Amino acid sequence: MKNLILPKTGTGGTERVTHLKEDAKKAAKYVYYFGGGKADGNESMKNLLGGKGANLAEMAGHPNLRLPVPPGFTITTDVCTYYYKNKKKYPAILKAQVQKALSAVEKDMGKRFDDPNNPLLVSVRSGARRSMPGMMETVLDIGLNEKTIKGVIKQSGDARFAYDAYRRLIMMYADVVMEKADGIVPKGNKGIRKVLDEKLEKVKHKQGYKFDTDLTVNELKTLVKDFKATVLKVLGKPFPENPYEQLWGSIGAVFSSWRGKRAIEYRLIEKIPDEWGTAVSVQAMVFGNMGNTSATGVAFTRNPGTGENKFYGEYLLNAQGEDVVAGIRTPAPVNEYSKNAQSRHLPTLEETMPDLYKQLFEIQKKLERHYKDMQDIEFTIEKGKLYMLQCRVGKRNGIAAVKMASDMYDEKMIDAKKAIMRIAPNQLVELLLPMLDPEIQKATKPIAKGLPAGPGGAKGRVVFSSIDAVKWAAKGEKVILVREETSPEDVDGMYKSQAILTTKGGMTSHAALVARGWGKCCIVGCADIEIHSDTKSFKANDGTFIKEGDWLSLDGTKGLVYKGSMGLVDIDLDKNESYTNIMKLVDKIKIIGVRTNAETPADAAQGLKFGAEGIGLFRTEHMFYGEGSDQPLFLLRKMIVSKTEDERKLALNELFRYVKKDVKDTLNIMKGYPVTIRLLDPPLHEFVPHDKEKLLQLSQELGISMNLLKRRVLALHENNPMLGHRGVRLGVSYPEVTEMQVRAILEATGELLLAGQKAFPEIMVPVTCTENELIHQKKIVDRVYKEVCDELKIKKIPYLYGTMIEIPRAALRAEKMATVADFFSFGTNDLTQMSFGFSRDDIGGFLPIYLDEKLLEDDPFMTIDQEGVGELIKFGTERGRKAKPHLKVGICGEHGGDAESVKFCHRIGMNYVSCSPFRVPIARLAAAQAALEYPIIT
Ligand code: PEP
Ligand code: MG
Repeated sequence: MKNLILPKTGTGGTERVTHLKEDAKKAAKYVYYFGGGKADGNESMKNLLGGKGANLAEMAGHPNLRLPVPPGFTITTDVCTYYYKNKKKYPAILKAQVQKALSAVEKDMGKRFDDPNNPLLVSVRSGARRSMPGMMETVLDIGLNEKTIKGVIKQSGDARFAYDAYRRLIMMYADVVMEKADGIVPKGNKGIRKVLDEKLEKVKHKQGYKFDTDLTVNELKTLVKDFKATVLKVLGKPFPENPYEQLWGSIGAVFSSWRGKRAIEYRLIEKIPDEWGTAVSVQAMVFGNMGNTSATGVAFTRNPGTGENKFYGEYLLNAQGEDVVAGIRTPAPVNEYSKNAQSRHLPTLEETMPDLYKQLFEIQKKLERHYKDMQDIEFTIEKGKLYMLQCRVGKRNGIAAVKMASDMYDEKMIDAKKAIMRIAPNQLVELLLPMLDPEIQKATKPIAKGLPAGPGGAKGRVVFSSIDAVKWAAKGEKVILVREETSPEDVDGMYKSQAILTTKGGMTSHAALVARGWGKCCIVGCADIEIHSDTKSFKANDGTFIKEGDWLSLDGTKGLVYKGSMGLVDIDLDKNESYTNIMKLVDKIKIIGVRTNAETPADAAQGLKFGAEGIGLFRTEHMFYGEGSDQPLFLLRKMIVSKTEDERKLALNELFRYVKKDVKDTLNIMKGYPVTIRLLDPPLHEFVPHDKEKLLQLSQELGISMNLLKRRVLALHENNPMLGHRGVRLGVSYPEVTEMQVRAILEATGELLLAGQKAFPEIMVPVTCTENELIHQKKIVDRVYKEVCDELKIKKIPYLYGTMIEIPRAALRAEKMATVADFFSFGTNDLTQMSFGFSRDDIGGFLPIYLDEKLLEDDPFMTIDQEGVGELIKFGTERGRKAKPHLKVGICGEHGGDAESVKFCHRIGMNYVSCSPFRVPIARLAAAQAALEYPIIT
């Protein structure tokens, strides 16, 4: 057995240690400043400063970067924790620290907060350790009031701009601080933002304006007045004129938004702990909406949809950052490469502001080199000066993740370890995602085209609201959510949909961002269709009319929308060079073996193609289901309802050739890789027919009356079949059943060997609980082995004899079991069922409550319950190897394809995991990551 060394801390652990030390030294530091070429914090302090705060500090203060970042400060996540522990109060010294940092910002900017002549305006934003796009609140333009607006007009020389900022502040503040943070539930679900928005739209409509930017200064002035009066009327309180009140109100609202409904929902999906809390960053405002020499944008250092090493981004002239993400105006491409069907005609940033583009291009290169990873950046250009507002590791889909990791490794930017750790094992699912059948697709005309925001193919029935998506999905319907645009309120429905289609927004819109994070098929900015919410329908430009419930098929890789339900096919992985590159590294590093579970020879071939190193579970009974199963199933039934041993033997003799062929084909495909063949496992009554015609056929064949046959069938009934006459118990009651199977396996192997092929079967006995069962069955195996060797005139047929460990008692008696068995394979489906006493077939009835109430962290049938079932596995492995040091140990329950479970199996020193063919690449990657995270010393 190999020794394991567990690392003392992972990356997160190291961060935490730094953080704790930091706390001890500067126990009372709650505010971290950045700006003017220096910063108190840095990128490694994400736990304390949140992703946004840490990266702002890094960009502003790191000697290699010192980028143009508007100055500001970050209030730590510790304050958030304090806030919730102390009835929404702050530590006493916070105020003084904020004031000090604000003075420093004032000094850097040469402006003063609450100064009517030369005012400083600030933004207040959230920032958790891990990005939660759009799930928490932001307030911009804080510091504006009737007095300071005069100063802003003086500074900018632009009254229109000043009033536009003012109406935005009132709108955001009323919504975020006065309504949401105060817990006011709006009447008829129509929040204050909507009320104010309608007022704005009304003016635009009246004047025939298309964009907000068309509004004149006088119209904005009137709107500001109207907004204030409306806020007072609707919310019963006036919009606060005092800039400090605005500032603290906004800080409190951001902290409150950590416990907002959508943030909680998102954390549940993403498994982000509640205790982390958010930091709050306060930063000097810079404006992308100061006329046509100003702009704002979002960009990625590489294409997040494909992984291509090309600078990719979008911007809007004369706009604030929110306008890009909200997807209201179609953003323009930053360069030629970023053009798409919707933005083809718009001028690029490279064309309109070539010098600034060059500066931005250099900065993004610098950032990527510095972080050694693809960055998602936000920038603003204020009157011809470029500012960096944010950078973070960019979300990417699985296809892009694999390509970037492979390319960056080739470019020597990262080593093999980083390349492997960069890809979340589950992201590989996307590479295996089905796509629309290319043949059918070729022959079908799309009804619309949009932007390819999330790859793969998907089909489903159209719904037009997130609520309907959730409802329909709960009924088992596959749905496609069609919206003008999505907002964070939609996350639940988006998650439950097969795919998302929006008519507005670009590749950086909310829908695109969220779908990409999940690797979901998604098309955005599909302007070819117009939604009619009142009739729950949409009309495409080509005249196609689609209503709720109609089928739609999407090609998220190309952005194409098709009417109807199209077939889906699997992708050819061998053609993906980046994948092959990465998997080569994976196989060099991983220690634990990865096999596939296979029900049929076709499965075996698929698993092999995905890199399986053997079969960990061949469930022979599957030859009795599905295509081509009629005859073997009939013979099996004949055997089951036989009364005497002779009758049974007769049926078994007939069945023998089918079993042997199935085994032989599989062994042949696996070319000498080990193939674990399990002896018959399910309770026999599962196979008996219930329809009259089949019963009649059986009675005739057996020459018995229908009545007698029915009595025999009835006799097979059990009250608790999962704990009943199944697994090895069948082999003990009917030794001839074991004998037939063992003979089939050994003859198939012997014949292959004689024909010069390689074959290596492992005979596995299921559902055992005592070594005596193993001894009982081994006698049969030994006898048949001798007979087959004699019969085939072969000296030796290599094989192993082992057992599944599926019953807690078997794990506890592992030392004894291993005296007979050459190998163990943990059947964690049954082991979980029998350890928890949860029926694997009925857990759906109560599991959601257990998860919601956090009685269980995960579904134990999906990821190994390491504290309970895991202990049994560990104990069983150790005890088994005590009796037989080289005992081969594997796992063949569903957990073998779950990344966390694979890592667990690696840590306890198993030899292999086995999972369904499509999980094999995921298990391989997880195995390599486990080897890197938990190195093993031999
Ligand atoms: C198991 O119990 O984990 C197992 C692999 O066997 P089955 O799912 O066929 O019961
Ligand atoms: Mg089982």
